[in-house]
Amino acid sequence: MSNISFDNTEVAFKHKSNAELKRAKWLFSMFNHRWAVKYGPPLTSLALKLRLPIKGMVRSTIFDQFCGGENIQECGDAADMLHKRGVGSILDYSVEGVEEESTFDQNVEEIKQTIYAAKTEDKYPFAVFKCTGIGRFDIFHKASEGRLNEAEREEFDRIVKRVEDICQTAVDQGVRLLIDAEETWIQDSIDDLVLMMMQKHNTSAVWVYNTLQMYRTDRLAYLDNTIDLARKAGFKMGYKLVRGAYMEKERERALDNDYDSPIQPDKPATDENFDAGLRMCFEHRDIIATCLGTHNENSSRLLTELMSEENVPSNDPHFWFAQLFGMSDNISFNLAQAGYNVAKYLPYGPIQAVLPYLGRRAEENSSVSGQVGREMSLIIEELKRRKVWNSN
Ligand SMILES: Cc1cc2nc3c(=O)[nH]c(=O)nc-3n(C[C@H](O)[C@H](O)[C@H](O)COP(=O)(O)OP(=O)(O)OC[C@H]3O[C@@H](n4cnc5c(N)ncnc54)[C@H](O)[C@@H]3O)c2cc1C
Repeated sequence: MSNISFDNTEVAFKHKSNAELKRAKWLFSMFNHRWAVKYGPPLTSLALKLRLPIKGMVRSTIFDQFCGGENIQECGDAADMLHKRGVGSILDYSVEGVEEESTFDQNVEEIKQTIYAAKTEDKYPFAVFKCTGIGRFDIFHKASEGRLNEAEREEFDRIVKRVEDICQTAVDQGVRLLIDAEETWIQDSIDDLVLMMMQKHNTSAVWVYNTLQMYRTDRLAYLDNTIDLARKAGFKMGYKLVRGAYMEKERERALDNDYDSPIQPDKPATDENFDAGLRMCFEHRDIIATCLGTHNENSSRLLTELMSEENVPSNDPHFWFAQLFGMSDNISFNLAQAGYNVAKYLPYGPIQAVLPYLGRRAEENSSVSGQVGREMSLIIEELKRRKVWNSN
């Protein structure tokens, strides 16, 4: 039996000075204010556009908590700190919103730079990208519904070429590549593309990983089908398992358009489905490599238990745990200390461009979503352990 504990806050926060911990406590307490979470990102964006001198303030607070820097070089310090403590970094170019062909091409070049960085430095065990960073959302939507006109088909072909280019670069450099999952109404075309890439590249080893959002009701069946397919066609698969980030949007759209919600009815159902997906991937570990993308302690513990029961070494390269930079350090560092493979998404990009990402982190850690207690109570516990706690 694995007996991993995620409660050791000394291990979790060794990298943070008292002042940094207090700043983190202040930041997480701000997420309790609905107005700060709702209006903070758009007001910050406006202030930056107006060139008001707030960049330093944003940078030293929310940006430094959740991002590695404005470019790959600037991420070096954060990545070194994590690496020294046994945790890898996954450089995540988190720029969103501009839907132009020239920007998509530039993004491909930037993603390739993250692959080259991963090739040369052990501290970067994976590369990652999001399909809507290299193609228009609407094109993925139409492709998913099989209704591209001729011009759109050409545009989609250019997207396919970009995906091929990124995957080929990763394989040539010997770098594992994660591809994020997005909204259900664009995901079919992404799944088809990634499956094609897995079939092409994951022949002797797993380089390309798709993402399964286990809050979806159809993902276990999808996983099962692709296992059949991979066995018959003789290729391997990589899956990053996550619960899913777009629950409210998914439910709202289903309601507005009068179709059944594709999302599990409640949190326990999502939890059960996530763990079932994990068990299925584990059972088929001869052809599936798994990256467990979660801040959930029970699911993280489950994988350590499965590995221990079947005598899979904790550092088996087919199993990785992943969290986001600035969150759940208690999981990341306690797992790493116990010898497991752990990496954190390390988002980066110009401050203005990563604001949507920061807004989502604020939302996720707000009292509205019920997450705020977790990070905050760990920070307070550590401040108390260091005897520097005061309740202000
Ligand atoms: C390394 C990493 C990579 C990620 N990549 C992606 C990605 O590619 N695509 C993506 O969509 N997300 C991604 N995420 C985000 C992820 O999907 C979750 O939103 C986030 O991690 C919270 O889930 P959890 O398992 O960590 O924690 P938990 O706190 O245990 O779970 C929260 C999650 O449970 C689900 N949930 C909450 N309430 C309900 C409810 N009432 N009914 C049904 N389900 C509910 C939601 O999915 C919610 O996000 C990633 C997360 C990490 C750590």
